[in-house]
Amino acid sequence: MRLKNVPGSREAVAASDFVVTEAERYKGCWKRDIFANDNPIYTEIGMGKGKFITTLAAQNPDINYIGIEKYSSVLIRAIEKVQADPLPNLKFIRMDAEDIEDIFGKGEIGRIYLNFSDPWPKDRHAKRRLPSRRFLGRFANILADGGTIEFKTDNRDMFDFALEEIEPAGWKLLASTFDLHNDPKMNEGNIMTEYEEKFSAAGNPICKYIIAPDKE
Ligand code: SAM
Repeated sequence: MRLKNVPGSREAVAASDFVVTEAERYKGCWKRDIFANDNPIYTEIGMGKGKFITTLAAQNPDINYIGIEKYSSVLIRAIEKVQADPLPNLKFIRMDAEDIEDIFGKGEIGRIYLNFSDPWPKDRHAKRRLPSRRFLGRFANILADGGTIEFKTDNRDMFDFALEEIEPAGWKLLASTFDLHNDPKMNEGNIMTEYEEKFSAAGNPICKYIIAPDKE
């Protein structure tokens, strides 16, 4: 993704009430200390400008949402979106998902959304891909019983890679489609992300899977 530097965004993100800083302090205590309720926590990793997660949070007040994004220049756009209409069930963290196990305890997260994750096309960068077995191992450690990952992309090579990673990572496929917008069952309630709008408008079919750790 091409990034435009937004001057002052790092400071603005750090100062925002919507952003949790020093997030490792809340490991194991997010429901109590941050949301003050016992509702499940869902996270979107690589949330970009935040249309997907802010829409979901507005639709589902009984679920807590945490949007994770690596770059302040992008996260600042999500903060601008919620400033006008704050949501008590939505927080953001600026971090690299590599460190996710420092932030969340075992079983703390009910669902992980990966939307249009960076494809890292070079083979030597495959382990940076969020649906890679390396990341799936980390995600398995923070997911609650019955927890799932939902992954969407228009990049067919990335999707094929992600499908091949499922079994070796110790996960199982629950559902999948190579054309989400023409799959009435899987598309029900679908919320388009910024990238999804752009790529589907260009005529690209959207792939999606839902997976869960294979406990058998
Ligand atoms: N999910 C949004 C969408 O669908 O419109 C944005 C997609 S964009 C291609 C991928 C986003 O993931 C970027 O904003 C990037 O900075 C973020 N990202 C990539 N790797 C990440 C990581 N390891 N940790 C946190 N964010 C990451």
